[in-house]
Amino acid sequence: ADLDTLDIIVLAAILVGTVAYFTKGKIWGVTKDPYASSFAAANGAKAGKTRNIVEKLEESNKDCIIFYGSQTGTAEDYASRLAKEGKSRFGLETMVADLEDYDYDNLDAIPSNKVVMFVLATYGEGEPTDNAVDFYEFITGDAPQFSLDNEPALGNLNYVAFGLGNNTYEHYNSMVRNVNKALENLGAHRIGDAGEGDDGAGTMEEDFLAWKDPMWKALAEKLSLEEREAVYEPVFGIVERDGLTAESAEVYVGEPNRMHLDGTPKGPFNAHNPYIAPIAQSYELFNVKDRNCIHMDIDISGSNLTYQTGDHIAVWPTNAGEEVDRFLAVLGLESKRQNVISVKALEPTAKVPFPTPTTFDAIVRYHMEICAPVSRQFLATLAPFSPTDEIKAEMAKLGGDKEYFHEKINVHHLNIARVLETVGKGHKWTNVPFSAFIEGITKLQPRYYSISSSSLEHPKKVSITAVVEETRLPGRDDPFRGVATNYLLALKQKQNGDPNSSPFGLTYEITGPRNKYDGIHVPVHIRHSNFKLPSDPLKPIIMVGPGTGVAPFRGFVRERVQMARNGQAIGKMILFFGCRKPTEDFIYEKEWEEAKQVLGDNFEIITAFSREGSKKVYVQHKLQQRSKDINDLLEQKAYFYVCGDAANMAREVNTLLGKIIAENRGIPEAKAEEIVKSLRASNQYQEDVW
Ligand code: FAD
Repeated sequence: ADLDTLDIIVLAAILVGTVAYFTKGKIWGVTKDPYASSFAAANGAKAGKTRNIVEKLEESNKDCIIFYGSQTGTAEDYASRLAKEGKSRFGLETMVADLEDYDYDNLDAIPSNKVVMFVLATYGEGEPTDNAVDFYEFITGDAPQFSLDNEPALGNLNYVAFGLGNNTYEHYNSMVRNVNKALENLGAHRIGDAGEGDDGAGTMEEDFLAWKDPMWKALAEKLSLEEREAVYEPVFGIVERDGLTAESAEVYVGEPNRMHLDGTPKGPFNAHNPYIAPIAQSYELFNVKDRNCIHMDIDISGSNLTYQTGDHIAVWPTNAGEEVDRFLAVLGLESKRQNVISVKALEPTAKVPFPTPTTFDAIVRYHMEICAPVSRQFLATLAPFSPTDEIKAEMAKLGGDKEYFHEKINVHHLNIARVLETVGKGHKWTNVPFSAFIEGITKLQPRYYSISSSSLEHPKKVSITAVVEETRLPGRDDPFRGVATNYLLALKQKQNGDPNSSPFGLTYEITGPRNKYDGIHVPVHIRHSNFKLPSDPLKPIIMVGPGTGVAPFRGFVRERVQMARNGQAIGKMILFFGCRKPTEDFIYEKEWEEAKQVLGDNFEIITAFSREGSKKVYVQHKLQQRSKDINDLLEQKAYFYVCGDAANMAREVNTLLGKIIAENRGIPEAKAEEIVKSLRASNQYQEDVW
C-alpha cells in the first residue's frame, strides 16, 4: 500500500519503536486500547499511571499542562488546540490532561518556569462537568490542603484560564469565574485574561480565537519564549498493517472497546462503554410530511442499567454513509477505506482517541464528528497541505478572515469534507497527513435525550422523544441534517419494514460493526440527572414543555398515573404545551386524554398553537393568562419545571415567573426575582434545557 509522503516520514520516525509492535500487535492492542484503559481507570484500576502532576511533567519533560473540564468534547478540543499551537509556534513542550486523572494537592509544587492552563466548561445550572467535580470542590473548598507550606499557597503557580459557557444560563461561565477567583485568592499568577466563550450568542469559536492571541503574547513574554515559523508536527503516526484485513479478529471495525470486539460486552455501561440495546418499538409522532419526530422505546432489560424518571439517555450515533463517503473521497482514501491501520501516539502524553488496529472507514464512521461545524483555525492548519497554491491562498483567507469565513462556510453549515470539496474544486487533498484530522476533529459524541418514560411504570424500558434535525439553508440544494436524529430515523424506518430504509437518501450502517447491532439495536448509556418529581406525590406541579421539551413530562405524567392506579393520592398537575398546529405536531395527544381519564381534575393540559390562527400563541402567553392559578399553586409549594429550548423559551419563562409573582403578590419585581432565585436554590424550580 502506498503511503503519503508525510506519513512515510512519520513512519520512519517511529520505525524503531514499532518493530516490537509489529511482532506483538496483539498485546499492544490490549494495553493501548484507550477506551479499555479509561474504562479501567473509571473502575478503580489505576494501571500504574501517576496521578502526580509534578512527577508527570518531569518524567515527560513538559513545560505546560493543559487541563480540560469537558462534557461534550468542546473544551477537550480547545485544550488540544492550545497544546498544538504552543508547540508549533513557540516550541513549548505541552501536554493535555483530563482533570479527572490527577490529584491537585501539589499544584503548589509546580515550578515557576512552567505553566498550567485550565479550559473549563460550565455545565447546566453552573455546575462543573462530570470530570471536573473533584477539582472544583478541591480548589474552591474552604481550605485546600497543599503539599508545601508556601505563603501564599500557590505563589509559584503560573496559570492560564478559558471558560466555555452559555449566557442564557444564570450562572454564565461560573466554572472559570469561580476557579479563577479561587486561584487568585491562593496567590497564583494568571497570564493573560481569564477568557470566556459564549455558546448562547453563538460566538464560542470567535471568543476563543480573540482571547488566545493576547494570551500567547503575554505567555511568551513571561516565559521568554521565541515565536518561530509555525511548523506542523503530527501527533499520531499511521502504520498500514498489511498482514491484517477488516475481517481479522483483532481489527476494530467500529467496536467501542475491547470487550465489544471480543464479543463479551458487560457492564458497568457508561460514557466509555455503551450497551447495545434492542429497540422494542419506534414510531412517528408528527402528522405532517416534511418534519419528523420519533418516539422510540429502548429495552434495557438485558443490562444492569437502571434509570429514574427525569434522567437522560445517551445515544451513540454513527455517521451517515453519504458523509463518510464524501470525507474519504475528498482525501483520496476511498480505495483504502478497508485497509487496516494502526495509529500510534508519537509522544507519550497523547492518547489515540479510538481503539486500533482499525480501518479508515471505521474511524470516520464511528469515531469522528465529521459533520460538525468547522473551525477557522483548522482551515488555517490545513492550508499548507492544499493541492494547489491558489487553493492554499483561499484556505489561508478563510482561516484568517472572520467575515469571509462566516459568509462562505458558516451560513451554509458546511462540514469539513464539504469545505474541502468546495474549496478544492475537484482536487483531492492527498497531501494532508491523516494525523491532522485525528487531531483536528472532535471525537464523535453521544447525544443526550430526556427520558420520556416513567421508571415506575417501565423500569426496564426507556423512551426517547426526538425531533429530527433537518434545516433548509439558503444557497444549498440539500438540507442540513443532524447526525444522531437522522440515524434514529433510519433505525425507525428499518424497524418498521421499509427494506430500503435511507431517510433523505442518507445511508447508515444500521447493523453496526460485524452486524453486531442487527435486529435493530442502538448503543446507549444512561446519565442520571437532578430533574426529578417531588418525593411527595401530593405536591402540585407545574410543567412548561413546548415541543420535545414535553419529553420528561410524559414521564412525570405517566409516573403519577401509575401511582394513581396503585391507589395513591396525587397532587394537582398542570402541563403547558406548545406546538405549531393541533393537526400536525401535537405529540402524545391521545396519551394526555388517557391521563385525564385516570387523574380527572388533577391533570390539566394547556396548549398554545403558534401557527393556527393569525396570531402566534406561545406557552409564555398561556402562562400569563393563568397567572393567578400559577401563583396560588406556588404558594401551596408547587414545583415548577421547564424543559426544552434554553436560548429563548426557558429564559423568558424565568422572567415571566418573576412578573407573575410580582403582580399577584403586589411586590416589586426585584423582590419577586429574588423569590424566583430562592425557588431555584431550593429545587422548587427545576430546568432541563438544551
Ligand atoms: P447535530 O448533528 O448534533 O446538530 C445539532 C445542531 O448543531 C444543528 O442543528 C446545528 O445548529 C449545529 N451544527 C451541526 N453541524 C453543523 C455544521 N456543520 N455547521 C453549522 N452548524 C452545525 N433533543 C430532543 O429532540 N429531545 C429531547 O428529549 C432532548 N433532550 C436533551 C437533553 C439534554 C440534557 C441535552 C443536552 C440535549 C437534549 N436534546 C434533546 C438535544 C439532542 O441531544 C441533540 O442535540 C439533538 O437531537 C440534535 O442532534 P443531532 O445529532 O441530530 O444534530
